[in-house]
Amino acid sequence: MCGVFGIYEHPEAANLTYLGLHALQHRGQESAGVVANDHGTLHGVRAMGQVREIFSREVLDQLPGQIAIGHVRYTTAGGSIAKNIQPLWAQYRSGSIAIAHNGNLVNEQTLRDELEAEGAIFSSLSDTEVVLQLMARSRQRGIIEQLAEALTRVQGAYSMVLTTEDKIIAVRDPHGFRPLVLGRTQGAGNKPGSWVVASETCAFDLIQAERIRDIEPGEILVIGPQGLQTSYLPRAPRRSCVFEHVYFARPDSVIDEVSVYEARIAMGRQLATDHPVDADYVVPVPDSGVVAALGYSHKSGIPFQMGLIRNHYVGRTFIEPSDSIRSFGVRLKLNAVPSLLAGKRIVVVDDSIVRGTTSRKIVRLLRSAGAAEVHVRISSPPVSGPCYYGIDTPTRTELVASRQSVHEIARMIEADSLGYLSAEGLRRAVRGEGGVQRFCDACFTNDYPIPIDRPASRRQLRLIEV
Ligand code: AMP
Repeated sequence: MCGVFGIYEHPEAANLTYLGLHALQHRGQESAGVVANDHGTLHGVRAMGQVREIFSREVLDQLPGQIAIGHVRYTTAGGSIAKNIQPLWAQYRSGSIAIAHNGNLVNEQTLRDELEAEGAIFSSLSDTEVVLQLMARSRQRGIIEQLAEALTRVQGAYSMVLTTEDKIIAVRDPHGFRPLVLGRTQGAGNKPGSWVVASETCAFDLIQAERIRDIEPGEILVIGPQGLQTSYLPRAPRRSCVFEHVYFARPDSVIDEVSVYEARIAMGRQLATDHPVDADYVVPVPDSGVVAALGYSHKSGIPFQMGLIRNHYVGRTFIEPSDSIRSFGVRLKLNAVPSLLAGKRIVVVDDSIVRGTTSRKIVRLLRSAGAAEVHVRISSPPVSGPCYYGIDTPTRTELVASRQSVHEIARMIEADSLGYLSAEGLRRAVRGEGGVQRFCDACFTNDYPIPIDRPASRRQLRLIEV
């Protein structure tokens, strides 16, 4: 998963992009990059690591300009090389361009093969480079037209921010899989603020920018010397990712008009209605289960207690691309509070079960701290299909719910009982009363909005950069 950010016309464009990326760090901790645009000259820094490690004062001082875009990234292990770090940048007949992309293209390999057959050479394994190549080959004269033409060829999920020599372009795929939102910083005196674009509104809050609106599915928004100009790609049914609300996004963000916090409270309430249990405490798995656990506690009347304490200096276990770390990740990250748990019946709430390894460790942790009963409640349906649109889920066979029934999973994780939110319950919770949001929930339902072309072949390019 990734996060993107862009700012147009601000004297401290790179500094604000750094702050925006810091607020989006939860969307990817493997690498980060910023490209600043100084009157058409692009200056870029990209590196492996987290935002605070990469961008020192000295590094930021090397990024002059009034426009900047940035990216934070996490990939599956195979693509984790320095050449793939974004933003990507290039020069072609229409000038300099840089691009930051959140989402996955599903017909990348077909397009890559086609382009290579025509003589294109690729310098990265990133699907985003395909977009740049298609733009460079377009017969259209203007950059926006070249981009629009390129995007009619690609399929999949993309929320992108680009900078050309004098503009920012924000674009969201016609299904609107991944979020993208427009905001504006506070102006000084009677000067208007600067336009900002980000994956999530939490990036705006940090820099005290105001959320203006979501970039609409299929919208190409150009922010340039002429102000804001919008055009649209061919329409498609809206399918925003429901997993953003379940897990990925920060609860203080608002996505497609829906507060992630409110949605998670509603998920917890719905879960309490669908899977009640007699217990002494509701205990969240921090941080991912906290808000849904509050909803469960409110609805059930069972007191909420922080029976598990998180060590914040460890990254998300799942996100570490190394198996050895994952295997003892839960103990690195969480500890139980025996004085609270001893002899008590516990409902433990988490957002999802993917492989099932985390839940079993948590159940064992609670029991070893003295819990008398451990009932697991999950604020989403069983994850039974991989995501092809930008969330890093394991292959289908690694997903415990693709192989086992709920009853079997309950046994495997050693819980006294297990209850998942239903797909309908989840939709109802996120949509809110009377809302019309349409979601992609393929990871839960296996109903994939775009057929998967074929996986990208990674054979030819194995680079190790240090
Ligand atoms: P697992 O042990 O594989 O079942 O992992 C489940 C845990 O991973 C839950 O606590 C989730 O909060 C978290 N999780 C679910 N999906 C993801 C993801 N795509 N990236 C990182 N963590 C995730």
